[in-house]
Amino acid sequence: MFDAVLIEKGDQGSRASLTTLEEDRLPPGDVTLRVAWSTLNYKDALAITGKGPVVRSFPMVPGIDLAGIVEQSDNPGYKPGDKVVLNGWGVGETHWGGLAGKARLKGDWLVPLQSPFTLRQAMAIGTAGYTAMLCVMALERHGVTPDAGEVLVTGAAGGVGSVAVALLAKLGYRVVAMTGRREEADYLTTLGAGEVIDRGDYTQPGKPLARERWAGAVDVVGGQVLANICAAMRYRGTVAACGLAGGMALPATVAPFILRGVTLAGIDSVMCPRAERLEAWRRLASDLDPGKLDALTREVPLADVIPTTDLLMAGQVRGRIIVPVNPD
Ligand code: NAP
Repeated sequence: MFDAVLIEKGDQGSRASLTTLEEDRLPPGDVTLRVAWSTLNYKDALAITGKGPVVRSFPMVPGIDLAGIVEQSDNPGYKPGDKVVLNGWGVGETHWGGLAGKARLKGDWLVPLQSPFTLRQAMAIGTAGYTAMLCVMALERHGVTPDAGEVLVTGAAGGVGSVAVALLAKLGYRVVAMTGRREEADYLTTLGAGEVIDRGDYTQPGKPLARERWAGAVDVVGGQVLANICAAMRYRGTVAACGLAGGMALPATVAPFILRGVTLAGIDSVMCPRAERLEAWRRLASDLDPGKLDALTREVPLADVIPTTDLLMAGQVRGRIIVPVNPD
């Protein structure tokens, strides 16, 4: 028996509850593991509140991330006792996820815990932090170096944004953090932001081309904010776009792309190939200051996960939330 958050479908839509499950209800898979830590990402909040079409089959255990210890394995890559991490691959969407005491899944989806991280730290990073690293790697691939100019991070006080600010600052970039919460300015400065700007400056429709300011950008917001960022990119700048916290639409023109050679680099963490995942985790081990990681992390017990999702949906959560399930 193990505790789990379970989302079930009823006449009134989906409903999440905390429950106890028998092990024989676990889905098929060649590796069974004890979940030590999980996390809460924006996507988990969409799944649990039912506010976004994240869950593709019911009943579903949400949780797109987990870190745990292998109990049983028919996969040649893993043996009992191995410490492993999972991000994405449709877990928490089409296959039972990490917000439960146990998980059974495909061993090929796992990555070994990256030294020197603990299982707890791996979840403090989670999909949000690993996606932030993928964004930074995309900027680098497109030639955005620290001497190229300022780099903007949107949704900066959230999970992806906080880790992106910390990573870019450690790598020597001048980071400008955009937030809707001015009260988080000190927090963002502590993470390494050189300047904090208001999201409100970017939410109204602007000109197809604005004054060139950003050499690079990491955007989690989408919508009008992303359109305005594209318009304000410097010649040959790159925007790594990974989120839709502000909307799915993109009310932009092609002007920045065809007149300034701007690149809009799409970032997907869910199906990202294994080699790139491993590289992202290696880079996190070298480029993320563990002290900063502690500063941006808060623990929420499994029993409080469901009410906390409303705060996430309202953009009220700072940094990362981690969930001690069977902590080591
Ligand atoms: P999060 O911790 O909830 O942070 C989102 C941040 O966005 C909030 O803290 C807030 O930052 C800002 N925000 C919230 N509501 C907003 C609104 N209506 N308009 C504009 N900004 C708003 O979420 P997260 O886990 O960092 O994820 C951020 C986004 O990235 C989500 O859309 C998520 O689905 C996406 N994501 C995508 C991938 C991928 O593989 N592509 C992976 C991970 C996450 P401020 O208060 O600082 O403004």
